[in-house]
Amino acid sequence: MTERRQVVVIGSGPAGLTAAIYTARAQLEPVVIEGEPSSTSDQPGGQLMLTTEVENFPGFPTGVTGPELMSQMREQALRFGADLVTAKVTKVDFSASPFAIYVGSDEPTYLADSVIVATGARSLMLGVPGEERLLGYGLSTCATCDGFFFRGHEIAVVGGGDSALEEAIFLTRFASKVHLLVRRDSLRASKIMQERALANEKIEVHWNTGVLEVLGESKVERLAIVDTVTGAEAVLEVTGIFVAIGHVPNTDLFKGQLGLHDNGYIEVGVGSRTTVDGVFACGDVQDHVYRQAITSAGSGCMAAIDAERWLEGQGH
Ligand code: NDP
Repeated sequence: MTERRQVVVIGSGPAGLTAAIYTARAQLEPVVIEGEPSSTSDQPGGQLMLTTEVENFPGFPTGVTGPELMSQMREQALRFGADLVTAKVTKVDFSASPFAIYVGSDEPTYLADSVIVATGARSLMLGVPGEERLLGYGLSTCATCDGFFFRGHEIAVVGGGDSALEEAIFLTRFASKVHLLVRRDSLRASKIMQERALANEKIEVHWNTGVLEVLGESKVERLAIVDTVTGAEAVLEVTGIFVAIGHVPNTDLFKGQLGLHDNGYIEVGVGSRTTVDGVFACGDVQDHVYRQAITSAGSGCMAAIDAERWLEGQGH
């Protein structure tokens, strides 16, 4: 059966849940389609579910774990009457209003007067043994989030783009040494970042180096690495590894429906407006620059206010 809603939020990371809290408090009775627990890219709670301690979210002076923070945001959204549905959106049709949202079936599950897209992004991963098991236990995809835990440690950063170099430079504030593992004999990053990284005494670049396996019982203890030219294998003693080989926004659903930048992120104009009137985007799905829980939550608030005003303007 198709249900008519004023607001449908797709995604339940900090952006989606903040949008839900605001639209619920504005009496718009939002439904949030949270994603599915079995999937890394669509899991309820988003990327914070893959982190351990979060120490930079204001209001938690002694830190909070990613899952706990998301659980509290979820509870807050429920308290104000948001409906949370654990399911995955399989198709959207934004060609006409009300917008059709499909959750598995051939008929639209929801017809929405406005939609808030908050499907986030996912880090590209190496796909090597030990990586998934030790994610959050010495293996991280966010230096800003986790760098602080590696004070005085020797760690590795994988990648040769701007992200990897930015992470490596940032991590030299904490780590005693940063091994930058680059799979080729040159960097992809911008010249200025290359100069900065190569001039940093705490960064040692390992050219032509790939990662074979992340090793450790319950946390990262060392890496099995390989020379990509000679095939020679070696072990690198590090207690942390940051994978910085790029991100991809979760925008497959919106291809042909919303304007996307060349890098796949959703185009937003004023505030959170997308190229379709009545569809708003917030969080990492439209932001490849900041990618923080707090900026994501802030943009979720913006999308909720934009949706509310837009609905009001349409006489809803
Ligand atoms: P990029 O795609 O630019 O770089 C990815 C890097 O990871 C490349 O060096 C690539 O190697 C390497 N890589 C990819 N897959 C693997 C793998 N399986 N194993 C080992 N290494 C791998 O991604 P970024 O996230 O760095 O940047 C994305 C965009 O964002 C870029 O346009 C960048 O300029 C921009 N950006 C800008 C910043 C700034 O201006 N401050 C900061 C961060 C990002 P290879 O070169 O061999 O393909």
